[in-house]
Amino acid sequence: MRILTIVGNRPQFIKAAAVSGVLRRRHEEVLLHTGQHHDDNLSRIFFAQLGLAEPERRLEIAGGSNTSQTARMLAALEPILAETDPRAVLVYGDTNSTLAGGLAAAQAGVPVIHVEAGMRSFDRSMPEETNRVLTDHLSSLLLCSSQTAAQNLAAESAHGSAVVVGDVMVDVALRWQPAARADRSLPERYGVQPGSYLLASAHRAGNVDVPQRLEELVELIEAMPLPVLFPVHPRTRARLRETGLDDRLAADPHVTLTEPLGYAEFTTLLCHSRAVLTDSGGVQKEAYLAGVPCITLRPNTEWVETVRSGWNTLVDLDAQAALAALDAAPPAGERPPLYGDGKAAERCVEAIEAWDARSAATVAA
Ligand code: UDP
Repeated sequence: MRILTIVGNRPQFIKAAAVSGVLRRRHEEVLLHTGQHHDDNLSRIFFAQLGLAEPERRLEIAGGSNTSQTARMLAALEPILAETDPRAVLVYGDTNSTLAGGLAAAQAGVPVIHVEAGMRSFDRSMPEETNRVLTDHLSSLLLCSSQTAAQNLAAESAHGSAVVVGDVMVDVALRWQPAARADRSLPERYGVQPGSYLLASAHRAGNVDVPQRLEELVELIEAMPLPVLFPVHPRTRARLRETGLDDRLAADPHVTLTEPLGYAEFTTLLCHSRAVLTDSGGVQKEAYLAGVPCITLRPNTEWVETVRSGWNTLVDLDAQAALAALDAAPPAGERPPLYGDGKAAERCVEAIEAWDARSAATVAA
């Protein structure tokens, strides 16, 4: 069968890197890059490092408001759907590319498959939550990272069939973390010692687009008692510049600002950090897998199991709460596999094949 996969931003390249190879061994995949993330260090490096095939189609749509970006993607996708005539459209996660892909497909009468379906923060002020909820309700096949996600979909009476396959980012993390752990030299190249620095990442609109919140984020980083390595997302970099806070952070000797890093470098720095400070969804899971305490700079999370396990603490932008989380000893004992065993991509493709066979049988009947 022919599947049109739509990706557009950093975490989607990582998720697609897990699934695309398996899908292409058995089916035809047309990979479309919307252009949402186009900088080399947010896009090209992930294709190169993770072995993701070059996209067959590119839209080069970036920038503008969420509304304008989604609208431009919708308009561009309509003729491509007609031309490629896919059996289904595959989308990942919760971005504008996800919603545009799902909506354009549904409007063209093409079934939608959503990977990472059912995640909820229950915070409708997050643009990502709108994208997730709408895409789930457009989808025929809902591939879930966890039982919680499947329960969320059942509670909302989502009409597609939900299958818990595990998390595809876990597939990639489990593949890369052993080599990352073995490389103890990279932290030193950034002037920090393994086990005694914090790795920061932040780019959510709620944290960086509101100047007062951005200042609180900067204050929290300044209050940390250990060196902080902070690969800065372009959105965050732009907001820091606009507010003049970039100079303040750059002047702090215990903070090292870098460009966004490749997956290999970021994973290595994560594995050797004392803890991560993040508002990213993916990083919360990766920290858990690496056995690194996660301090989440949000009041809520979709990855609730990491919080329940004791490895993730939600502090929003409260510096005192972050300091307390950093002081707390990490939980003792084994970390159970919360999001699967690293074989989620294989299960995704099996679930797609089973869905295809079921739909064909229904049509025949
Ligand atoms: N990541 C990376 N380089 C960086 C920062 C993050 O490779 O400088 C990876 C990280 O390991 C994770 C993913 O990017 O796999 C998270 O992406 P992001 O924070 O943009 O999105 P979210 O997970 O919040 O949707």
